[in-house]
Amino acid sequence: MMSCDPADRAGAILEIDLDGVRANWRLLAQRVAPAACAAVVKADAYGLGAAPIAAALAQAGCRLFFVATLDEGVALRRALTAPGDIAVFNGLFPGTAAEFAAHDLIPVLNDPGQIEEWQRFAANGPTPLPAAMLHLDTGMARLGLTPREFAALADAGLPGGIGWRALLSHLACADEPEHRLNALQRDRFAAARRRLPTLPASLAASCGIFLGPGYHFDFVRPGAALYGVNPQPGAPNPMRQVVRLKGRIAQVREIDRGESVGYGARHIMETRGRLATVAIGYADGWPRSLSHRGCARIGGLRIPLVGRVSMDLVVFDVSALPEEIARPGAFVDLLDEEYGVDAAAAAAGTIGYEILTSLGRRYHRVYRGESR
Ligand SMILES: *Cc1c(COP(=O)(O)O)cnc(C)c1O
Repeated sequence: MMSCDPADRAGAILEIDLDGVRANWRLLAQRVAPAACAAVVKADAYGLGAAPIAAALAQAGCRLFFVATLDEGVALRRALTAPGDIAVFNGLFPGTAAEFAAHDLIPVLNDPGQIEEWQRFAANGPTPLPAAMLHLDTGMARLGLTPREFAALADAGLPGGIGWRALLSHLACADEPEHRLNALQRDRFAAARRRLPTLPASLAASCGIFLGPGYHFDFVRPGAALYGVNPQPGAPNPMRQVVRLKGRIAQVREIDRGESVGYGARHIMETRGRLATVAIGYADGWPRSLSHRGCARIGGLRIPLVGRVSMDLVVFDVSALPEEIARPGAFVDLLDEEYGVDAAAAAAGTIGYEILTSLGRRYHRVYRGESR
């Protein structure tokens, strides 16, 4: 039996530009210098593949990676051959301390119970001192010590027996530069840092970097901007688009005026025309909220999405295109340089983060710029 190329059988192809990810990291690193630049690769590097993304960023000089969960940390520790620290935002769940240590992972300690647990674990003698980061909540009310808990800790001095590596906090409104909470959080964080001056401090993620040097402290923690999301909503995007998504036309058919298209029969053809059915759907993370409003490009020409997005298929109206362009087996561009993750997100009523982290498992994935 002959078997064909994986790219030939795929309904959609996701290309990930590792050179672009590296260029984005360098741009941010230069912008914040002399502060350092870590990289957030949680949620499988926002859907793009934590192992290849972290390897590419390590080549560019990144030495500190953040993931969300212990399992993500374990997987990244196994995959990462370059030297690099891996810290876990969601912290230490009860009973997991030994697992952190076994995989050389740094827990972000978010409350006094986690600090106690890590101290108890550390007291059993592993050397060097088990590393941890301390998370202070300055206005997000999500994770981190409350101001009162932090004050008590600072009064007593940093808990001993732990290899303290950093003091973290996270901005709630960094995508709205005018929001008053930004400066408030910055000032609270600066005050906290004065109480623990030996700890490297980090406040800013992607958007926070663009609030200015007062937000950079000792290191920054961008995620989304590395992957092309605009860290300055409303202003031109300084980041490179790093994903390109192409869907394959599974069928082209004629349709008469007055006929309906797709589930619910909500789209009625106003004229006779031609439809191209493309092999991508909400099971691939192409949002159902793009029903009746998404678009694609073919040969640079825009084609409207008609009807509802279904699980495995979407339909585009290609009546305006020559038959030889929109033909079965050809590809339509769903994400590209001109129409990136933020554009798709705006049409879908969501944010670029959600478009990226929903990218499907059925795509044939191609990494460009891998071997350098
Ligand atoms: C996700 C996350 C980041 C990265 O945020 P981006 O907006 O993607 O740059 C940084 N810090 C914390 C605590 C996070 O949860």
